[in-house]
Amino acid sequence: MRALRYVAIGQAPEVVDIPIPRPGPGQVLLKVTAGGVCHSDDYVMGLSEEEYLGQGYPLPMTLGHEGAGIVHELGEGVDTVAVGDAVAVYGPWGCGYCRNCSMGRENYCTNAAALGIRPPGLGNQGSMAEYMIVDDPRHLVPLGDLDPVKNVSLTDAGLTPYHAIKRSLPKLGAGTSAVVIGSGGLGHVGIQILKALSGARVIVLDVNDQKLELARHVGADETLISDETAVGRILELTGGVGADAVFDFVGAKATIPLAVSVAAVEGDVTVVGIGGGEVAFGFGTINYDVAVRIPYWGYRNELIEVLDLARAGKVDVEVQPYSLDDGPRAYADLASGSIRGRAVIVP
Ligand code: NAD
Ligand code: ZN
Ligand code: ZN
Repeated sequence: MRALRYVAIGQAPEVVDIPIPRPGPGQVLLKVTAGGVCHSDDYVMGLSEEEYLGQGYPLPMTLGHEGAGIVHELGEGVDTVAVGDAVAVYGPWGCGYCRNCSMGRENYCTNAAALGIRPPGLGNQGSMAEYMIVDDPRHLVPLGDLDPVKNVSLTDAGLTPYHAIKRSLPKLGAGTSAVVIGSGGLGHVGIQILKALSGARVIVLDVNDQKLELARHVGADETLISDETAVGRILELTGGVGADAVFDFVGAKATIPLAVSVAAVEGDVTVVGIGGGEVAFGFGTINYDVAVRIPYWGYRNELIEVLDLARAGKVDVEVQPYSLDDGPRAYADLASGSIRGRAVIVP
């Protein structure tokens, strides 16, 4: 089969021919229908050799931590899914045994690091291939009639903002404001989730006019270029008090200080982006009772919920499809900022 693999540190990924894997006991082999391209892949491919191998990632590694497929073959003992089922992959694999996993919160598994359990495409062989192995049917959720190419990215670009936003919903009733920084793959879905679930006015920042146009297209109430004037504009738009919740889908040196500085008293700042930013804070530097969090991905039940939002027509991922052979170009386009929404590999 063909697979899009990261084969050498610092080099662009390549399409290679490898044998179709066979499912071991308890595993499931999927015929992949779609695999989404995430900025985190770019982050992983930007790690030094020491950092990359230090994470326990294999080389070569098939990319893709957003996956959807049709169940193709069952490993011994698997009986909760059937050959032919259309499924989406829950990517943050955990042990299934610890307290967090028992609640479907495998993204916060307390045993995964020690046991070497890693997500597909982020330490395990991922979804950008004609077939992929899923280690346990627990890591599949039913996709049903949803189009896999349109919806595969809900497994990360939907689930991650959904998880982040759900924590702040009690603060986002009618008359409140939410700020979204970065209207890319995650951000443009986050805007739709905020509009669907909260009463907040959604103010979106990006550095790219086309991304702000996409933000308006998916329902943003206000859009602003993310520059030195943005803080003042957000304060103006919020009557001087700031935003009740800020979601930073960039996480860079320029954005995290901006995010905390526009959070209202008792507001939430959620940093999702892995952009190398940080902020020092103490009394006098941020508003009273601002809560700051750094979430990772989301819970299994939340993936089912975000797919239900798509079924209800409340979330529509803007997709740019690429063939597997064109996969390297998808990553080049992501790096140059020219993807509108999410790039998806269709094998
Ligand atoms: P993306 O490239 O699709 O989108 C990023 C957007 O941010 C683009 O629209 C870009 O123009 C915009 N941007 C860049 N610099 C900006 C700035 N200074 N101010 C405002 N906007 C700016 O990326 P993505 O796939 O949506 O991922 C977003 C981030 O989230 C990445 O850092 C990724 O690694 C991270 N991520 C984190 C998790 C998690 O669990 N915490 C999960 C998935 C992705
Ligand atoms: Zn991701
Ligand atoms: Zn666990």
